[in-house]
Amino acid sequence: MDKKIPTLDLTRNYARIKDEVQEAVNSVLESQYFILGPDVARFEEECENYLGEVSAVGCASGTDALLLALMALDIGEGDEVITTPYSFFATVSCITRLGAKPVFVDVDPLSFNIDMKKVLDAVTPKTKAFLPVHIFGQMAPLEEIKEELEKRGIAIVEDAAQAFGSWRKENESIRRAGAWGTIGCYSFFPTKNLGGYGDGGMVVTKDASLADRLKKLRVHGAGTTYYHDEVGLNSRLDSLQAAILRVKLRHLEEWNEERRRAAGRYYALFAEKGLIGTVIPPSEMENNYHIYHQYVVKVPQRDDLQAHLENQGIVSRVYYPVSLHMQRCFAFLGYSEGDFPVSESLSRETLALPIFPELTMEEQKKIVNSIGDFYKK
Ligand SMILES: *Cc1c(COP(=O)(O)O)cnc(C)c1O
Repeated sequence: MDKKIPTLDLTRNYARIKDEVQEAVNSVLESQYFILGPDVARFEEECENYLGEVSAVGCASGTDALLLALMALDIGEGDEVITTPYSFFATVSCITRLGAKPVFVDVDPLSFNIDMKKVLDAVTPKTKAFLPVHIFGQMAPLEEIKEELEKRGIAIVEDAAQAFGSWRKENESIRRAGAWGTIGCYSFFPTKNLGGYGDGGMVVTKDASLADRLKKLRVHGAGTTYYHDEVGLNSRLDSLQAAILRVKLRHLEEWNEERRRAAGRYYALFAEKGLIGTVIPPSEMENNYHIYHQYVVKVPQRDDLQAHLENQGIVSRVYYPVSLHMQRCFAFLGYSEGDFPVSESLSRETLALPIFPELTMEEQKKIVNSIGDFYKK
């Protein structure tokens, strides 16, 4: 049998940048400066330039980015945070970890992003923040309710872990994911579009005093070393990761374009096979630049299709098999099955197909042919 087609092949990506990465890593090794340090400062600056109008603060992971953001906003016991049930676990665990209460709002069936039309109905006097996720690399349309939330003093914390580099049009210019709200959070987990070679994350904000607070919170709450204004975390981005991420940031636009081209090829191949309708491809919403962190289709007989693909050497994944309101650890919130029907149906019907910048047309043909065989087209 041919070689397996993985959902993501990082070895091909590494082959393209090996020399640059090794040089960057070597220079950190020579300097022996491992925690924060000049590469972190430069990477933060480069992210600021790329994202526009924000201060960037590197930290240890995307999960910590979310936690730091909510800590900087003084969210805790008695506060409510409105968010989506269709996301990675960390989106919600950071809320409960601080003793605050996640309030879920169902997602939109086309974009899989939180349904903006339903968010304001979930606001109560206890609502301190709104935490949308730009799921699979496509931004949620924040402009629809941004002003209204600001008027009510509700902070916006964007979970942009899957969306570094994606954007939405704002008036006639573009604004990137993470740079819309009060605080934006990113993950540099190796599988993300901008991924390091280990854990890493970042928070960004336009608010200078929040940026200062975030910088303290990532070093145990210390303004000056050994003098603590409050209790923070040990959550720093290390120099090796920053040096590698600086190399990768230089190529990110090209790689995101390649992902978009791969998404376009999938669509054309599905259309050629008469599969559109059986397979529902991802919808790119108006005014969006979708960076296809994942290429997630809606399909009938999802589990059987996944098994069929696996037999053909094609790896696919289910994001996310359990809506967050149905996770056992969140049972205390009192939600039950049927509360968020769209999110629950996506958990049963969606499948993430291989996507990465280096994915070839040959591989995509094989994947689509195999899906065609399954549905006997
Ligand atoms: C990956 C991810 C996170 C967590 O990032 P880590 O760096 O793995 O801690 C949070 N939210 C979403 C939506 C993610 O995809």
